[in-house]
Amino acid sequence: MSKPLIIAIDGPSGAGKSTLSKALATDLGYIHIDTGAMYRSVALLATRRQIPLDDAEILQLLCQQMQLEFRRDGGETKVFVNGEDVSSAIRSPEVSLLTSEVAACPTVREELVRMQQQMGEGGGVVLEGRDIGTVVFPQAEIKFFLSASVEERGRRRFEELQARGVQVDLRQTIEEVRVRDDADSSREHAPLRRAPDAIDIDSTALNIEQVEALMLEVVRERLAQG
Ligand code: C5P
Repeated sequence: MSKPLIIAIDGPSGAGKSTLSKALATDLGYIHIDTGAMYRSVALLATRRQIPLDDAEILQLLCQQMQLEFRRDGGETKVFVNGEDVSSAIRSPEVSLLTSEVAACPTVREELVRMQQQMGEGGGVVLEGRDIGTVVFPQAEIKFFLSASVEERGRRRFEELQARGVQVDLRQTIEEVRVRDDADSSREHAPLRRAPDAIDIDSTALNIEQVEALMLEVVRERLAQG
């Protein structure tokens, strides 16, 4: 049998990383690790506890004490923090924006990267994020860099939020995606970067099935090489 792989999927928000990494993990029987959910969980806890988002020391303690778990529930993966299901709470537009601030903190990154490396070291994992192929697992066997135009990503986010009953404005949602892109790409620690050996996929004009087929082809080829 082929060695279970580490598959990294990086890219900006709204490019389809979550849907595709879930689908790929299901197809391959791999574990899906949503690293964005981990940064979101820290942001949620920090705001609830009124921790200043620039206090690196307290944020580090918060990460060290946080019990985070991904639990499969039917076809869905839920995020539990200290025993509470926070899957919905971490996806609000407010938490999304605060997350980029928390994610710029080097001590938070240090703690979460360590957790991600422990979760993924045995292989058989699909990790999605911003720095998986560059920082967390630079040795990953397969790296994808998934992107799409900012308008298309904003429109997708808008539809996703609307489907969940969250009242939002399309123009504002596109603007929020743009603000997050800027923050994630320009921060000092582990900014969003394409790994030099990543495979680029632009999903602007492709649907999920088309992107998934492209990714599966790459994975099967790699597995066939043993
Ligand atoms: O992927 P998602 O949109 O859920 O990520 C939320 C935020 O978490 C991103 O905008 C980014 O600031 C941060 N993040 C990160 N590094 C990762 C994953 C997410 O900085 N590996």
